[in-house]
Amino acid sequence: MQSTQTQLLRLSQGQLNLLERCPRQFQHTYLEQLHSPSNPEHEERQTLGSRFHLLMQQREMGLPIDTFLQEDAQLQRWMSSFANAAPEILNSVSNNQTFRESEHYRTLQVQDYLFTVIYDLLIADNQQAQILDWKTYPKPLNKRKLEQNWQTRLYLYVLAETSDYLPENISMTYWFVQSEGKPQSVKFSYSNIQHQKTVKKLNQILTRLTYWIERYYHKEPFPQEPEGSKACDYCQYTKRCNRQSRTEDIHSLATSEQMLEAKSPTIVDTNLLNIASIQEVTL
Ligand code: SF4
Repeated sequence: MQSTQTQLLRLSQGQLNLLERCPRQFQHTYLEQLHSPSNPEHEERQTLGSRFHLLMQQREMGLPIDTFLQEDAQLQRWMSSFANAAPEILNSVSNNQTFRESEHYRTLQVQDYLFTVIYDLLIADNQQAQILDWKTYPKPLNKRKLEQNWQTRLYLYVLAETSDYLPENISMTYWFVQSEGKPQSVKFSYSNIQHQKTVKKLNQILTRLTYWIERYYHKEPFPQEPEGSKACDYCQYTKRCNRQSRTEDIHSLATSEQMLEAKSPTIVDTNLLNIASIQEVTL
C-alpha cells in the first residue's frame, strides 16, 4: 500500500537567508552539499561561542559554572562584562508570574516545511514575552540588516504563531557580548503589520522552493542571481556559475558585518533534516 503522508522538510533561518540571497547557492549548498569546509579559525570562534551558550544555559538551570569560568579567561571576561551590562537579565528568577527558560524549543509547520527555533532565553509573563539571543562577535553596524535577517523574522513569527501573545507584546533582543569592549544589545519590537509581512514573505519563499525542488528533480537547476549581482561577489560557486569573483578586492574593504555575511554560506548546517544544536546561530 502506498503512503499518502507528505514528508516534511526541515528548514532553518540560515536556509531562508540563503534562499533569499540566491536560490542556486541554496541548491549547491544544501541539495548538492558542495560547500567548502569552514576554516579552523572560524571553527575555534564557533566553539568558543558554543561554550558561552552552554555556560549561560548551565547558569540558568542553577548548575555550577565556576569550573568553566576558571578554565577559560575569555568566558570569564564575557560573563563578568555581561553581568555588569545586564544585571536585570541575570538576576531575575522564574516565579509564579514569570516564566524563564534557556534553550527553549518551538516548532512550527508551514506548508510542507518544519521550522524549529531555539531561543537562548525566553522570559515571559502574563503581558509580554521576550526572546533573548547571545552573540559572541561584535555588533553588526547595520540594524536594518539585522532586522531583515531571517533569524529575527522567524523567531518573532514562530512565537506569535505558537503562543497567545499578540505580536505587539513580543520582542527579540540580541546581546553582542564583545562589542567594543562591552556588551551591547539590539532590541526589536514586533507588530501585527510585521507579522503579516513575514507570513506573506515566508509563504512566497516556500511556494517557490517547492516549485524549484520539483523542477530540480526534472533536471532544471534553481535560478541564479542576475549578472553583476552583489551576492556573487562573496560566493564560493562563481566558477560553477561562470561569474566573476570580486572576493579578493572586496575583502580588503569589507566591514566585519560584510565578512559575517560572506562567511555564512560556508558554515551552515548542510543537513536539511538536522535539528539545530546549541551552537551559536551565525547571522
Ligand atoms: S555565483 Fe552568483 S549566481 Fe552563482 S550561486 Fe553564487 S550568488 Fe548564485
